[in-house]
Amino acid sequence: MEEVMAAERSNLGAVQHIVLVLSGKGGVGKSTISTELALSLRHSGKKVGILDVDLCGPSIPRMFKVQGNDVHQCDAGWVPVYVDQEKSISLMSIGFLLEKPDDAVVWRGPKKNALIKQFVADVAWGELDFLIVDTPPGTSDEHISTVEALRHYKPLGAILVTTPQAVSVGDVRRELTFCKKTGLRVLGIVENMSGFVCPHCSECTNIFSKGGGEELAKHAGVPFLGSVPLDPQLSQSLEEGRDFIQEFPKSSAFPALT
Ligand code: ADP
Repeated sequence: MEEVMAAERSNLGAVQHIVLVLSGKGGVGKSTISTELALSLRHSGKKVGILDVDLCGPSIPRMFKVQGNDVHQCDAGWVPVYVDQEKSISLMSIGFLLEKPDDAVVWRGPKKNALIKQFVADVAWGELDFLIVDTPPGTSDEHISTVEALRHYKPLGAILVTTPQAVSVGDVRRELTFCKKTGLRVLGIVENMSGFVCPHCSECTNIFSKGGGEELAKHAGVPFLGSVPLDPQLSQSLEEGRDFIQEFPKSSAFPALT
């Protein structure tokens, strides 16, 4: 009971839901899905925070084009970086703490774990409908620290991102085991880079195999949340920090992202 009351008084006391985004491998679109999920929630009137705990490869500041912003202190802790004037999306990432945005983080586990704990305890998020946690690839020490630090505050859910190929799907199988062992509720699996839609003729070509994520979801008895095709407009929007969902509602990537 005391623990619950302390959690209510903490910086996460006014956060309604916490969702971790996980992937077995790097480069499969975990930060992309975290970003588009935040934008999609904002469009439905929600207040969203993203906590980027991918300490060695923080890409969230770049995807919102706010790299180079500084994090300030207030009485309650670190003030996150706001993406818009309405403060509907707020971000915290090691990218804001580095002297130069491209500096490499060469830290051993304990130092990384200490920063994760600080991120969880000391960011003054205020009221949020959702806190999305963008994690590093795999199931490392950092994941265990993140889950252990966050679960004091709220029940956690996880979205797993995979590409359709067997290797990536195999990695997600390991993520599913991680969720089971750590008691994380799996909200579902997203299959990203699922075919390529030609920008000229709109024909979808399955460069890799297709349907691996959906099959895995069925096999594991967890929801399948949708397939997102490779879309050059999506990667360009992310490069330029633009809102893909608002600009390209007719894209075939739109339904799964929203
Ligand atoms: P991760 O977080 O898993 O390392 P990212 O989200 O950073 O992966 O994605 C890696 C690269 O792939 C980025 O440049 C991103 O813009 C691009 N990308 C991801 N998903 C898509 C997609 N569906 N269509 C086009 N580009 C994508």
